[in-house]
Amino acid sequence: MSNVLLIYTGGTIGMKEDPVDQTLRPFDFDSLLDEVPELRKFGTSIDHVTFDPLIDSSDIEPAMWQKLAALIERKYDAYDGFVVLHGTDTMAYSASVLSYMLSNLSKPVVFTGSQLPVGRLRTDGRENLVSAVEIAGARERDGSAIVPEVCIYFNSLLIRGNRSTKVDADGFDAFRSPNLPPLAEAGIDIRYNKDIILRPSRGLLSVSSALDTRVSILKVHPGITEQVVRDTLLGEATRAVILETFGCGNAPSRDWFLDIVREAADAGKVLLNVTQCLRGTVNMDLYATGRALHRAGVLSGYDITLESALGKLFFLMGKSNDNEYVKAYVEKNLCGEISK
Ligand code: ASP
Repeated sequence: MSNVLLIYTGGTIGMKEDPVDQTLRPFDFDSLLDEVPELRKFGTSIDHVTFDPLIDSSDIEPAMWQKLAALIERKYDAYDGFVVLHGTDTMAYSASVLSYMLSNLSKPVVFTGSQLPVGRLRTDGRENLVSAVEIAGARERDGSAIVPEVCIYFNSLLIRGNRSTKVDADGFDAFRSPNLPPLAEAGIDIRYNKDIILRPSRGLLSVSSALDTRVSILKVHPGITEQVVRDTLLGEATRAVILETFGCGNAPSRDWFLDIVREAADAGKVLLNVTQCLRGTVNMDLYATGRALHRAGVLSGYDITLESALGKLFFLMGKSNDNEYVKAYVEKNLCGEISK
């Protein structure tokens, strides 16, 4: 029998309507278990830890990622897998950053949540939770985990955490990994896509908890002003900037824009090009506007998601104060986050 640790951080899945002001507020874990009695008869032994306070995931902070990583590290040997109940709003950010913080994983860390509280009729929470537990406990005949990755299970799809993005604010089909097929699909059975699931690490789990969040994001758009570009790229408090560009990595080619990019690169900042498109990859050699960015010192995020790029930079910058170190690693595939 597998044993799984359920970590309840908050989110809609465990919320109830406040009778006074009708807003959704978190309720305790035992009430959650009462709503999903299936969990009590599972062929998996389930323990739980509840975060205090429970939070709406819009309030997530790096300190909570550190707390989560430390908890998983402490309990790692005692469990076959972990399920993290988390609000959907920032789940893709948390699953992304945790995939970098937890290296040498040989066990599943499955994030899930729901769009409707688990106590509501027609909730998606019950199925999401039950299947996430099944996946977290799933093992091959030799006892190794089937999905030794940080991933998200939502609405019948299991996707890699650092490839995920929330695509629907109110539909059940809320998450996608646009540049990687799902790791598994749940129907009558759970069908695992073993060709793309990462192999379990033979090394020991290693947790990197230092994160440096001095990253800015500049979403380019027609009409963007010089002052906005200057403030974002050259701000003193910024070590790295994600340039969210058009199509395959293009940005305005006006002189003032490229001059600021060059000034930021010369100042040693890490400049990472991530496309605004949901699908596809940055290729700065295709158009003159992209090539100009490349020449100015901008690095390629390839087909990384914005959420994952942010987590990767937090992680790499937490590892070293030297931006040359960050630049040396940011274009590499660290844990399946880019197709390269
Ligand atoms: N605001 C909620 C949260 O992210 C939404 C959800 O869980 O779906 O915590």
